[in-house]
Amino acid sequence: MSDIALNESLAHSYEQACERLRQALEDAERAPNAAALLAVTKTKPAAMIRQAWQLGQREFGENYLQEALEKQAELADLEGLVWHFIGPLQSNKTRAVAEHFDWVHSVDRLKIAQRLNEQRPAHLAPLNICLQVNISHEDSKAGVLPEELEALARDVATLPNLRLRGLMAIPAPAETLAAQRQPLAALREALTALQSQLPETPLDTLSMGMSDDLEAAVLEGATLVRLGTSIFGARQRA
Ligand SMILES: *Cc1c(COP(=O)(O)O)cnc(C)c1O
Repeated sequence: MSDIALNESLAHSYEQACERLRQALEDAERAPNAAALLAVTKTKPAAMIRQAWQLGQREFGENYLQEALEKQAELADLEGLVWHFIGPLQSNKTRAVAEHFDWVHSVDRLKIAQRLNEQRPAHLAPLNICLQVNISHEDSKAGVLPEELEALARDVATLPNLRLRGLMAIPAPAETLAAQRQPLAALREALTALQSQLPETPLDTLSMGMSDDLEAAVLEGATLVRLGTSIFGARQRA
């Protein structure tokens, strides 16, 4: 595909994604800026991120550390990029994540949070953290179990180089809007509970909603929706 064709089709799908979010917020009777778009670019080339940046997008989500670092290096000339790490995070990757990202959405145990806290460079602002919750108790899923969330959040909130912002979940796919809404509502309720359990910590972020369940997520109060496929097209790699 030529650069120009790529640019036109990306401009079109990006505009459609922005419109979809705008419409979802309107249908949910929420303010037009109540939720922001996080563009998920795993497996997509740096050139696409550059084009999305030219269209005005600033928040980008990546899942794979090495791939993300390579793209960040290629895009070092762009101003105002905000990088979100949204993939599974092992201990041996925390240093690079602490050094090269603004947000981590996938913290689900204290050890990882402690390492990010220790490894966050002093000259950078605190690292924004969402705790990933296994909201439907899925056996295979990453995320802290709902019954263990409060204890983890209390500990993470004390770490000075982290800023606990809220919760993230990746619910199992569901067919109907009602079925999609159920786990998303549970995540919203978990955040509301935490807000009263930790009144000193300003928790303002519900990271939920992907290409298949954006409307359900916006209805349930998402503040950051993570869209990949619907902006950048299908991914080759799983
Ligand atoms: C890949 C991914 C997304 C984007 O999913 P799409 O269905 O392509 O919109 C969102 N969140 C996480 C954590 C992801 O890994």
